[in-house]
Amino acid sequence: MIVGSLFAVLGVPVLPGARCRGRSHLFDEATQGEPATTVAARHRQAVGLCEHCPALAPCSEWYGSLTPSKRPAGVVAGRIPAQSPARGGGGR
Ligand code: SF4
Repeated sequence: MIVGSLFAVLGVPVLPGARCRGRSHLFDEATQGEPATTVAARHRQAVGLCEHCPALAPCSEWYGSLTPSKRPAGVVAGRIPAQSPARGGGGR
């Protein structure tokens, strides 16, 4: 699923200039069997994009408004998710 679609489903405000658009492969949670070093490397890249994203403030505000159980997996608003076993497949 692309970021835009995910955000639409989750009721996220429009985030003009979002740097994650078209780069969901960097932000997604670990996939089944993906090496931890690979996941860490792409998540670092994602965080780097978030740090310079013009939509960081509204994205962070939205993310912070969600209860933990409602927060999407993967990197959002420059936050790396807690490491958990891969749930396999899926993504933005
Ligand atoms: S802060 Fe990160 S997750 Fe949020 S819109 Fe920007 S690039 Fe995407």
